[in-house]
Amino acid sequence: MCNCMQDTLAYVTEHMKGNPPENAIAESFDTEIMHYYFRMDGSSNAVPAMIVSGSHKVKKVNGEEAKNRKKIEMPIFGRFCPFCAEAYTTPAEEQKLWAVEIHGPGSLVAASSRAEADFRAAEINQLHKDHIESTPEDKRQHLPNVEAVVVEWESSREEHAIQALNNDWSDCF
Ligand SMILES: [Zn+2]
Repeated sequence: MCNCMQDTLAYVTEHMKGNPPENAIAESFDTEIMHYYFRMDGSSNAVPAMIVSGSHKVKKVNGEEAKNRKKIEMPIFGRFCPFCAEAYTTPAEEQKLWAVEIHGPGSLVAASSRAEADFRAAEINQLHKDHIESTPEDKRQHLPNVEAVVVEWESSREEHAIQALNNDWSDCF
């Protein structure tokens, strides 16, 4: 899997800092890539997606048509990186099991796919960063140093399946 998304973000951010808008404080740029989606069905794929957006009518319990239409949204995904055209995952990689290792609390959490592991690790690291930034500077030294990294699951497939089913990611932080 390539690293184009993060590399591109870093490149663009550096470019912004080098050519800042008037009065901008160059060191203060905070950027992220938005509008990309992760599949949670086991197929790893985090390339940008398009959203199929639509609506349909709904029948009420009494058989009449409801006045308001119900909105539907479903993301659809490409299979290749839009920057370098590398296939996002190979079939061999799809067979592997993934987890997120959280240094600090020292926990290992099974993820349902590589994409989910990438997503959750990034989310945990971002939450930690936000937590540090919202803590007064003189108290930051007491915060645990949390870092989430994506690792291959080394124990059995059965243990992975049980753990991945029972995970509550909101407990991870
Ligand atoms: Zn790429």
